[in-house]
Amino acid sequence: MRSHLLNDATAESYRRSVTEGVERVADKLATTRGPFTGVTPAELAPVIDAVDLDKPLGDSSAALDELESVYLRDAVYFHHPRYLGHLNCPVVIPAVLGEAVLSAVNSSLDTWDQSAGATLIERKLIDWTNGRIGFGPAADGVFTSGGSQSNLQALLLAREEATAGRGGWEGPADLSKLRIFSSECSHFSVQKSAKLLGLGMDAVISIPVGRDKRMQSVVLAAELEACRAEGLVPMAIVATAGTTDFGSIDPLPEIAALADEYGAWMHVDAAYGCGLLASPTRRHLLEGIERADSVTVDFHKSFFQPVSSSAILVRDGAALRHATYHADYLNPARTVAEQIPNQVDKSLQTTRRFDALKLWMTLRVMGADGVGQLFDEVCDLAAEGFALLAADPRYDVVVEPQISTLVYRYIPENVASPEDVDRANLHARKALFASGEAVVAGTKVDGRQYLKFTLLNPETTAADIAAVLDLIAGYAEQYLGETLVHA
Ligand SMILES: *Cc1c(COP(=O)(O)O)cnc(C)c1O
Repeated sequence: MRSHLLNDATAESYRRSVTEGVERVADKLATTRGPFTGVTPAELAPVIDAVDLDKPLGDSSAALDELESVYLRDAVYFHHPRYLGHLNCPVVIPAVLGEAVLSAVNSSLDTWDQSAGATLIERKLIDWTNGRIGFGPAADGVFTSGGSQSNLQALLLAREEATAGRGGWEGPADLSKLRIFSSECSHFSVQKSAKLLGLGMDAVISIPVGRDKRMQSVVLAAELEACRAEGLVPMAIVATAGTTDFGSIDPLPEIAALADEYGAWMHVDAAYGCGLLASPTRRHLLEGIERADSVTVDFHKSFFQPVSSSAILVRDGAALRHATYHADYLNPARTVAEQIPNQVDKSLQTTRRFDALKLWMTLRVMGADGVGQLFDEVCDLAAEGFALLAADPRYDVVVEPQISTLVYRYIPENVASPEDVDRANLHARKALFASGEAVVAGTKVDGRQYLKFTLLNPETTAADIAAVLDLIAGYAEQYLGETLVHA
């Protein structure tokens, strides 16, 4: 069994084994004809059930053969130009290379003595990101597992700052008084975080958006004033830079001014919109982000990085002390005086992947402009897609995209009840998924069923969008036709 350990004696077997795995995936990429096969859980479950985990195959070639039927054959492929579903990107090769290196070396980013250079590389990338945001020299941050965790940590810092007397509020930590303001289009991790932080579900005040799906700062101002009048504490305002549903960007400068006025922590959730930090032409859309107290970025969304790769950035690095705990077995307090860089002092995680290496390899090979251009291309594509939808009488499109998302619904030529139109759209989405021809997402707008393209693949063309719209219309019409027959 020692022959399976990765070490000096097995270097040759490592090379062979990983190369074989890479070749299988490369073949798969070269031959995949659609983003999905349409397999159902009921079809796939028995295949996986049939595997006896207590009867190993003994060698990696056999395990790779088996992997074809249990995973690779039916996986959902984000690199395919007709995958238009959730916020998943095709990945860039330098990042995948970084992934292969980081898992083989297996550094753990909690302490210097488990990582050495990896810690400094991560710190340099945090500094780089802070530079792009426009934060000053006091800024800091840390990589996380994803936007949800980044948001949780940001709100933890905000909570600790609020209960430490910020905003003129003194006295015992009465968590029931704390309020978080975020738009009705903000990510559900804001609510989840509030719950995890002991604030309760009514702590999050949902601010309506305008027709453009951006937070209405006038309403925010009124709600902040009401909060103050009721003796409650505006703990944080979460502005979203790239909402999950619409890609809309809240008015950051106006929100920053209100955060200053009311002494609230300003968090910018740029999990989706962070790609603009590298964009050669659209960086201005994030103006005002530099006034935030904290920022979430998901490199695994708009920087074309493999899952996971995210970070929380803070304008004043001292705030990260709220996540600092010392343990004799890991990061004893003396290491601070000794200036040993232990990233665990800033993180909610302990053992932690060297995800930063993927971004490092990406920037070293492609440069920031290279990544930013890819994101620009999908934003340009979204503009083209919007023009297509706006000109197409079969479709209602919700809002002109600020970045790369299109939300629309099929509307039939003949009269149909709103419920039937909802069902027809949902049916079209499911039928498309089952066919494997394309994958699109869905959401609700004002209670009605809509469909969504999240465009993150520069290989997708306007012709792909047009073709998928034809497919959707076909399925929706078929559904309504059958409904009429049966009615
Ligand atoms: C995706 C997303 C998140 C959550 O990020 P994960 O990496 O999925 O945890 C948070 N906020 C916004 C706006 C997002 O789009």
